[in-house]
Amino acid sequence: MRLVSSEKTLMVVLLVLSGLFLTVALGLLFVVPYWGFARIHPMLPRVAGFSFAILITVQFIAVCLLIVAVVLGRDVPFSASLRHLSAKGLLPLLIVAGRLVGVPKKTVQHAFVGVNNELVMASFRSGKRPRHVLLLMPHCIQLSQCGVRLTFHVENCRRCGRCPIAELLEIKDRYGIDLAVATGGTLARRIVVETRPDLIVAVACERDLVSGIQDTLPLPVYGIFNERPHGPCVDTRVPLDEIRAVLARLLDGK
Ligand code: SF4
Repeated sequence: MRLVSSEKTLMVVLLVLSGLFLTVALGLLFVVPYWGFARIHPMLPRVAGFSFAILITVQFIAVCLLIVAVVLGRDVPFSASLRHLSAKGLLPLLIVAGRLVGVPKKTVQHAFVGVNNELVMASFRSGKRPRHVLLLMPHCIQLSQCGVRLTFHVENCRRCGRCPIAELLEIKDRYGIDLAVATGGTLARRIVVETRPDLIVAVACERDLVSGIQDTLPLPVYGIFNERPHGPCVDTRVPLDEIRAVLARLLDGK
């Protein structure tokens, strides 16, 4: 899932707003106790001022780099750290900023996953290819009437084609990558620890995808949203063309 232009604009607006919040918050943190600092030591106001100036500069540079990555889709310096920062620290701020301008949380989460994906793709762009890819799927993509047990043994699938698992196995065979189906966050973490990939392509709903991206840091996760024609958690669908396109870009260099 890449960012479309309306999401790029939204992300730039939210990043600018979040940057302003942070600057004001850091400024207040400095100004409010400023006079008290001098009583502790005459040099302390200068040291504190210098430290806050560094913090404000760092957050300004981080926001600018993220905007460049969002707008141009290019690799930027410190992209791994930026992924970390945006997933752990910036997302709550983006959600608050979104609320202020009337943007629903789900829309912000969508755009956030898009930004994360841009950073992941950009980090593999300069001739670097992932050596070990894990396709991580939620169990709700398996047909609810299918009695085959897939957890830990996705190969148990009889490839009848009534749900996306059969085609995912074809994709797995075509690229020689790992495919796993997880019934929840704990199992997903265990699969990641056991398979030790250097890139995860994960399919899930907004909430699970965002928490998965946060939980697996610093591992890069390319997130793809599932489709829910029958409502959440039942017979969900996977945008297979998008998975194929992502793998072709990353592994075939197309
Ligand atoms: S493809 Fe068929 S056998 Fe495989 S999981 Fe789906 S429904 Fe079950």
